[in-house]
Amino acid sequence: MNKKRNNPETIAIHGGEYRSDPATNAVAVPIYRTTSYQFNNTEHAANLFALKEFGNIYTRIMNPTNDVLEKRVAALEGGLSCVTVSSGQTASTFAVLNVAQAGDNIVSSTDLYGGTVSLFTHTLSKLGIEIRYADPSNPENFEKLIDDKTRAFYGETLPNPYLRVFPIKEVSDIGRKYNIPLIMDNTAAPVICRPIEHGAAVVIHSLTKYIGGHGTAVAGSIVDSGNFDWTADPKRQPLFNEPDNSYGGVIWGKAVPELTGANVPFSVRARVCLLRDLGSALAPDNAFAIIQGLETVALRMRQHCANAEYVVNFLKKHKEVTKVIYSTEHDKPIADRAKKYLQGGNGPMIGIELKGGIQAGKKFIESLKMFYHVANIGDARSLAIHPASTTHSQLNEKELAASGVTQSYVRLCIGIEHIDDIIEDLDQALNKSSKGNLKAVS
Ligand code: PLP
Repeated sequence: MNKKRNNPETIAIHGGEYRSDPATNAVAVPIYRTTSYQFNNTEHAANLFALKEFGNIYTRIMNPTNDVLEKRVAALEGGLSCVTVSSGQTASTFAVLNVAQAGDNIVSSTDLYGGTVSLFTHTLSKLGIEIRYADPSNPENFEKLIDDKTRAFYGETLPNPYLRVFPIKEVSDIGRKYNIPLIMDNTAAPVICRPIEHGAAVVIHSLTKYIGGHGTAVAGSIVDSGNFDWTADPKRQPLFNEPDNSYGGVIWGKAVPELTGANVPFSVRARVCLLRDLGSALAPDNAFAIIQGLETVALRMRQHCANAEYVVNFLKKHKEVTKVIYSTEHDKPIADRAKKYLQGGNGPMIGIELKGGIQAGKKFIESLKMFYHVANIGDARSLAIHPASTTHSQLNEKELAASGVTQSYVRLCIGIEHIDDIIEDLDQALNKSSKGNLKAVS
């Protein structure tokens, strides 16, 4: 890829090495629906298994369709290497399991997608990996929780419901003093934020969301920045500095740069150990679907953000809305983080609180005609959900408040429809929301 063509619009279409299919000259990326690959001879097979040579072995570990997607996502994020997996959840799981084992801990932001909280609190803790939660409003909270078993920091660029942009450089700088890598989930902010430029060592995505963009495939990715020295403090990163008996005693931190000439032990280990042992490979059909979405991600993100900005201004003036939550609508220094880390838009997601409380929230959702009432984010369509009566309905008042979800909170993911149609739908539903409330009260 020509280094000058480093713009996201171009990377999304041409990023990586793929120009046309080497076997057929097909321009569109073919779906390689194969589980296995014929070895040239026994020496070739042995070399592939010993990592002396890189090439296709088995689709659980690599696939040529996935490879095109991996190179493009790596380029989009400004990283060196990428591994795709079956979902965003797997990407988060692998990112942690690749650095931490039983007895270790990760210091994570409190502002996280609910599924990640569940993964951390209920599943990884059962495997003996402790997750310590730090409030990111003050980056120093991360430093306070470090001990000699801390293997990584974890944050989300633009987490809902608070929609406070994560202090990427501040937390990364603290981590680097202790040789602790920062893993960033950039699902909600592709193109408008590149966490690696601010010091993140690893960037994960639920490709299911904005990168796929059309709600047609579940997928995840793990990008290795190549900017983290995994061997600088061997005690801090034992999985990269101690012999791995599952792979003939290889020391990943040393062997990968020697074998590949690139500082990407994180992604190589995730591929050849975690995909090998845990599966969760991305199906090439889904990789193909995500590649189609990826081609337009820069255009879509621009439109999502422009529409969202317009909607924020509309909502701020609406009589039924008591609060608008948006990346730029916070007190300093939180609002300044949007300026510092987001470029070309302030994000596609908006939270609102309604005058009429929970009844108004429900009535508003039920009155929407064009918006879809769904639990996901990152679709070309506009989406809405009322968390207190759905995704967060099992929480009590105190837990709800701690999670940032109030009774009347509604999450909007602004799509790329015409802005007039988005506003019209929101306006008519908001105007009905108070009527629903009056009826419920009487
Ligand atoms: N990370 C974030 C920020 C998400 O919003 C989601 C899903 O909503 C995930 C991870 C999990 O992704 P997936 O649904 O692809 O497993």
